[in-house]
Amino acid sequence: MSFEDRLSEVGLNLRSSIIRELLKFAASPEAISFGGGVPDPNTFPRHQLAEIAKEVVEQDYSYTLQYGTTEGDDLLAVQIIKLLNRIYGIADVQRDQLLFTTGSQQALDLMARIFLDKDSICFLEFPAYLGAVSAFRMSFPRFETVPLEDDGMDVGYLENRLRELDAKGEIKKVKFLYTVPNFHNPASVTMSLEKRKKLIEICDRYDILILEDDPYGMLRFSGERLPSLYKLAGPDRVVLLNSFSKVLTPGLRIGMMVGHSSIIRRATMAKQAMDLCCPTLTQRIAARYLERHDLVEQLKPGIELYRGKKDTMIRALNEHFSEIKGAKWVDPEGGLFVWVTLPQGFDTIGMFDVAKAKNVYYIPGEAFSIEKTPSTSMRLSFCLPPEERIVEGVRRLKDVIAQYGREKGLM
Ligand SMILES: *Cc1c(COP(=O)(O)O)cnc(C)c1O
Repeated sequence: MSFEDRLSEVGLNLRSSIIRELLKFAASPEAISFGGGVPDPNTFPRHQLAEIAKEVVEQDYSYTLQYGTTEGDDLLAVQIIKLLNRIYGIADVQRDQLLFTTGSQQALDLMARIFLDKDSICFLEFPAYLGAVSAFRMSFPRFETVPLEDDGMDVGYLENRLRELDAKGEIKKVKFLYTVPNFHNPASVTMSLEKRKKLIEICDRYDILILEDDPYGMLRFSGERLPSLYKLAGPDRVVLLNSFSKVLTPGLRIGMMVGHSSIIRRATMAKQAMDLCCPTLTQRIAARYLERHDLVEQLKPGIELYRGKKDTMIRALNEHFSEIKGAKWVDPEGGLFVWVTLPQGFDTIGMFDVAKAKNVYYIPGEAFSIEKTPSTSMRLSFCLPPEERIVEGVRRLKDVIAQYGREKGLM
């Protein structure tokens, strides 16, 4: 029996994750994988969470085992409003400007549902966060991509594209611009303050809504914290997404959407149709966790762990990759990734077979493009392997590059 002929357009448009395919063999014990983008489980505060979980099931059962409101747990909201003030300096978030979502992923989905139609235009960075692309793709928008530079989005490029769309009378079709300003996934760059201001100025001029996704902002290793776009421009211009996935645990599946109350109201109605509410249990666990523990303090050992791993990876790259003429990489100020770009002529998907044979894994840049364009780049995640494996993995990668480069006559 085949169901293909009765699938909806959305059903037919679904694609399996290339990342999942590529990493099928990365779990073997000899393999060193820089592929996964998930946090180190050793950073999860499991004992504290276990204690709270038992307590809230036994004592808060009439809340935690019951349906909740679509808006989410009010106790969690109290904590989050405080936290938003602390980490972003936004003091005036009202309850009706905040919606809890099943991870940021659901917030991305909600944004697509309430803003995007088939002929809508949606701006993204290039390379792009795949989770956002797959959520937005469900609405069949036209994607416009803005190249990323070392200090964030090429705002000059954006300005030109918007001017062209305006001249063609298409500017109203642009529904929002999606950006990951801090420690971008996958490009690992951070948008400079100057570019943040310029981006807002451009978006003010063309009346473009900004969707700011900041799951990594609290994972800063070095450098100064920069003001969020939301802080700079407010809810009339920006919707801010955040998530516990990278700073507490992804298993709770708690994300949040902060924005203008009329956007949050629409998103709440759409969420109601999707899943009625987020799990009350995990929201209450998070609320109690934030009441009792200082998330910013608790994060410090995790940040140290990631900083150590990141430094190890950068040192290994400096040592082994310097002789590859034209190769470059970003030394990120935070987050979980290092984006490496190889010289002209390399194709990191083509190279993948060599890497597989040498038991080292990465995500080819092509995976982060919308039209699957070949790429000389790759995303390396340093968060999971222990430090000595990071060194060994970079050494293997260098051999992979050397072998592939020789085979293709590139070096
Ligand atoms: C990991 C990540 C998220 C978090 O997604 P959740 O659904 O909250 O787990 C959001 N945006 C980006 C860019 C990410 O890398």
